[in-house]
Amino acid sequence: MAIPTLAIVGRPNVGKSTIFNRIVGTRQAIVEDTPGVTRDRLYGRGEWLSREFAVIDTGGIDMGDEPFMKQITEQAEIAMEEADVILFLVNVENGVTDADENVAQILYRTDKPVILAVNKVDNPERRNDVFDFYSLGFGEPLPLSGTHGIGLGDVLDAVFDKFPDDAGEDEDDSVKFSLIGRPNVGKSSLVNAILGENRVIVSPIEGTTRDAIDTKFNAEDTDFTMIDTAGLRKRGKVWEATEKYSVLRAMRAIDRSDVVLMILNAEEGIREQDKRVAGYAHEAGRAIIIVVNKWDTIEKDNHTMQDFENLVRSEFQYLDYAPIVFVSAKTHQRLDNLPKMILQASENQSRRIQSSVLNEVLNDALTVTPTPTVNGKRLRIYYMTQVAIKPPTFVVFVNDPDLLHFSYQRFLINQLRDTFDFTGTPIHLIARSRQ
Ligand code: GDP
Ligand code: GDP
Repeated sequence: MAIPTLAIVGRPNVGKSTIFNRIVGTRQAIVEDTPGVTRDRLYGRGEWLSREFAVIDTGGIDMGDEPFMKQITEQAEIAMEEADVILFLVNVENGVTDADENVAQILYRTDKPVILAVNKVDNPERRNDVFDFYSLGFGEPLPLSGTHGIGLGDVLDAVFDKFPDDAGEDEDDSVKFSLIGRPNVGKSSLVNAILGENRVIVSPIEGTTRDAIDTKFNAEDTDFTMIDTAGLRKRGKVWEATEKYSVLRAMRAIDRSDVVLMILNAEEGIREQDKRVAGYAHEAGRAIIIVVNKWDTIEKDNHTMQDFENLVRSEFQYLDYAPIVFVSAKTHQRLDNLPKMILQASENQSRRIQSSVLNEVLNDALTVTPTPTVNGKRLRIYYMTQVAIKPPTFVVFVNDPDLLHFSYQRFLINQLRDTFDFTGTPIHLIARSRQ
């Protein structure tokens, strides 16, 4: 689903990451922290008045050792490119600085709405200093205190006021998937090969989003929308080549997808960037298929495939539900399986289980492995119900949610997986105390 995007810009030290963390922190992932995934300021989801939005902290996109002014210029350009609304952050402690003026100069070039907020207004005396920032030319500066959390509601009200009513995307019932992976793993080649094998309904639709080119095709009697981040035309900007920017783009494509094809290069194995992006897809509840490309280049014996699979399983332990397929964009090996796999993952992600059936499974599970006792207190589970799909989300009503530890939660999820086909999709399980 398309959600609006806010980007935070401003020179270093004004409090961008503090504000970003506050926005993203209000909506912590319901799943436990994903091991091996470094969380950093860059891209996340927030929620305000029950509406979701995406947030980019442009300060998280560092360009290595480029000069300071150049970095903030590029960060502002990325904000203008990616966001629906820009939050221009300044710091009340220093008054208007040259660097603030430099950011303002760049932002004058955009048609997008810019909200100016003055951070570190920690006490009422500071409020008078806020008016100095009118001189930046973005209307009324809104006071904010990131550390105390004061003023953020008013800022988000102003932001939502400027968000487009609808992010401009047609919602249809096609299965949406994206190909995600580092440069050179073969994404473009796979895109072309997949389209070559299937009947294309609408070829590249540009302009639906800024991030990607969508192509619709039909296979398995199903309409698919392929979100292609690789084939994006290059604008010749320096930052387009940076790793952080490509991670940002991947995360944005994941947000629009039902199913994510995580492309690995058989020749190179798994890198840190792969883990971050896969972790994001997992936490966002997307269905995932791990696609090992360039399988033609590997010299194989009887164990090669099993060895590679073991490697993938140990590096991505939390993706134990994701099928792995070994393909070649060059020889088209196994590519004709992909649409069916994507469709199955998508169906599993939308699977609904009746409460009566769920509770039979729960009762069996409780008999096989009784609930644990934690610090002398026994966990009791009364009832289970499914509250959402995409991903399938279950609530268990218990005597005390703190008693449901990871291992028993894991056990219950595995019982669900053993009974129903949830291949390819993460499952969320939430404990609530019964009133
Ligand atoms: P960034 O470089 O723009 O991302 O800034 P940071 O979020 O890293 O903040 C820079 C410093 O300012 C940190 O030491 C923060 O704790 C501090 N800071 C952030 N917001 C506030 C605020 O509202 N009031 C005060 N007094 N300090 C803040
Ligand atoms: P992208 O950057 O992820 O879009 O990767 P490309 O599709 O541009 O592919 C990078 C390079 O790998 C190109 O030279 C491709 O011809 C090559 N390549 C892609 N897929 C395969 C494959 O399955 N086998 C082999 N041998 N080469 C491949």
